[in-house]
Formats: sequence, C-alpha cells, structure tokens
Amino acid sequence: MKIKAAVLHEPGVPFKVETIDLAEPREGEVLVRIAAAGICHSDWHLMTGATQHALPVVPGHEGAGTVVTTGLGVSRIKSGDHVALSWAPSCGTCYYCLHEKPSLCETFVGPLWAGTMLDGQTRLSKNGEPIYHFSSLACFAEYAVVPEVCCVPMAKDIPMTIAALIGCAVTTGIGAVLNTAQVRPGSSVAVYGAGGVGLNIIMGARLAGAAHIIAIDTNETKGDIATEFGATEILISGPEVINAIKRITGGRGADYVFEAVGLPHVQEECLSAVRPGGMVILAGLSAMGSSTNIPGAILTRQEKTITGSYYGSANPTRDFPLYAGLYQRGFLALDKLVSRTYTLEQINEAYAEMLSGEIARGLIVY
Ligand SMILES: [Zn+2]
Ligand SMILES: [Zn+2]
Repeated sequence: MKIKAAVLHEPGVPFKVETIDLAEPREGEVLVRIAAAGICHSDWHLMTGATQHALPVVPGHEGAGTVVTTGLGVSRIKSGDHVALSWAPSCGTCYYCLHEKPSLCETFVGPLWAGTMLDGQTRLSKNGEPIYHFSSLACFAEYAVVPEVCCVPMAKDIPMTIAALIGCAVTTGIGAVLNTAQVRPGSSVAVYGAGGVGLNIIMGARLAGAAHIIAIDTNETKGDIATEFGATEILISGPEVINAIKRITGGRGADYVFEAVGLPHVQEECLSAVRPGGMVILAGLSAMGSSTNIPGAILTRQEKTITGSYYGSANPTRDFPLYAGLYQRGFLALDKLVSRTYTLEQINEAYAEMLSGEIARGLIVY
C-alpha cells in the first residue's frame, strides 16, 4: 500500500514527508494505523548523527494506533485492538528474557539496529529501494507494519496520545525509578534534565514517595513545568548546583541521582551530586562513541553505584498496562505531558519546538 511517511535521508537534512510503499504484514506481524507518535529526542539523535543508522529511515518509536490486519500466526492481537508500541521487542526465551531483562533481549537486537523487521528485511520501500524502520516501528507514518511482540493492547478509553507516550517516555522515566533504581519512600532524588524522560522520572519519584525531588535544568521554563509534575526544588544548571543539592540533603548529596540528558559532563556531575552509598542512574542516551570520566577512586571509597537504565528496565507487556491503570486512577498526570500536537507535515517544526525546551512533549496526531 501507499503511505505518507516522514523520511530521514541523511543527517542534518530536514525530514521529508513523502509517499512510500508499505508491504503486507508477514508471519508474526501486524499492520497498525498509527494514531499518535511522540516527538522524542532519540529520533533527533538520527538527525544529528549521534545515533548511526541505515538510511533512508522512517523514524518514530513512540507510537500507538489501531490494528488493521494481522499476519499469519498472530494470536495475541486482533484487528480493531488499540495498541501501544514497544520499541524493544523481546523473544521471551533468550538469556536476558529469562532473567527479567527483556529490554536487553539478545535475539532481536541485531535486526533492530539493522533497521529491519525481525526477519532481516524491510517492509518499507520506494521505487523498489529499501527504506529502513527505526526500532522496528517507524511510526512517523500513517501506517506501520510491526512485530506482534511490539504490540501491547490498551483499554479503549486510554487516549492514543497517552498510549503513545507510555510506549517510550513514560516507560523509560517511571521504569528507571521503579524498576532500575527501586526508589524507596522518604528518599531524596535529583533529576538532571526535565524533558520528556526527566518529567516522567519526577512523576515516578513522587509515586515512589520520595521526600525531595530536585529538578536541574538549563532552562527556567522547564523548571516551572517540573514543579507541576512534582519536583519539590528547582535548580538552574551551574556551578552552585552541587552545593544546593547538599544543602537540601543534610550535606550528604541525594540518595538517587538520575541523568536524563545524555551528556558526559552532566553524567560526571551526577557522581558529585549523589551521597556516599547512593546510586546514579544514567537514563539519557549519550552519543555513540562518547565517553565519560568516572573516577574509580571515589566509587570505591564512597561506595557509589552507577547503573544504566535502558527503556526503564521495562517489561512492556507487564508495565504498559500498569502505567495506563495508574493514569486512569489519577496517580500519573500524563495528560499534562501532552503540550502540543502537530500534523505529520509539521514534523520539522515539532522538532524545533522540542529543541527550544519550551514544552513538555509534542506529538504527531494522524
Ligand atoms: Zn523515545
Ligand atoms: Zn529475548
């Protein structure tokens, strides 16, 4: 079928909205009519080249929609279902899937980063030339063929914009708090970066009962937004931040420090912001090939822990309905995340607004 999609042909060149071909779903795949797709920084990393990927590619990995048809052997999902899409398909049987780390599934990591479906081929093309799928989803498009294992059914009263956000920012942020760090009630939490993921970390910390939730950002507007989501103290990035965090936390530093920016110098600052015996959680994606100076002398003597958190250490099939239920019962203010919606044609404008830092989260609505 012919579909309209936003295609990235090369880094640095704006997304081009064009008509391309989408093949039928094959065995174990599903055709989804995309209803909403979030404007997430991870797609922008393709634009800057910080994430290297096969080109041309249709980005978009934070999506939700309605199942139109299903391929052979699809048993969990049927046409008409509303689904939130997971960008980390897991096989259920490899070492990581069996050890409660499905976001690290080793079966699908190859095709995922090759930009293909799980059988190593693309369903997208133009004039017979392949177009690659970002994260096996490619949801900056009216329709997407996705693996069944990426689909998590959602109750029909969950708005599609919210379902889309559950597919990336919500799961990455709240999962980092609840799954990766397992923040304890009464603790102190510092969050570097109050973007889509950072705001969800703040919401997760409130859910976990943190006593102090300190948000640090370069942008004052982001500070105001962070307060709405539950931050108890706002700090503007600069040389005084570490002292301010210590003042708030009895001179020790925070129990948990989350990095939701993905910059080596911020990651290094996190180590100064965390108390001895505390935990630094790196949840922001830094550029491939970048590296961070982590002084082992401090780690050992002060028993600080540094851990990565990829997709909130999520099990999407378990966690997406959990977050949707918390939203329905009023425990997660996900409506507040949806600051602006755009048409697919406005995608370049949407990314410019994301980079300006003035909004919580924008979404393409089809
Ligand atoms: Zn994302
Ligand atoms: Zn697996």
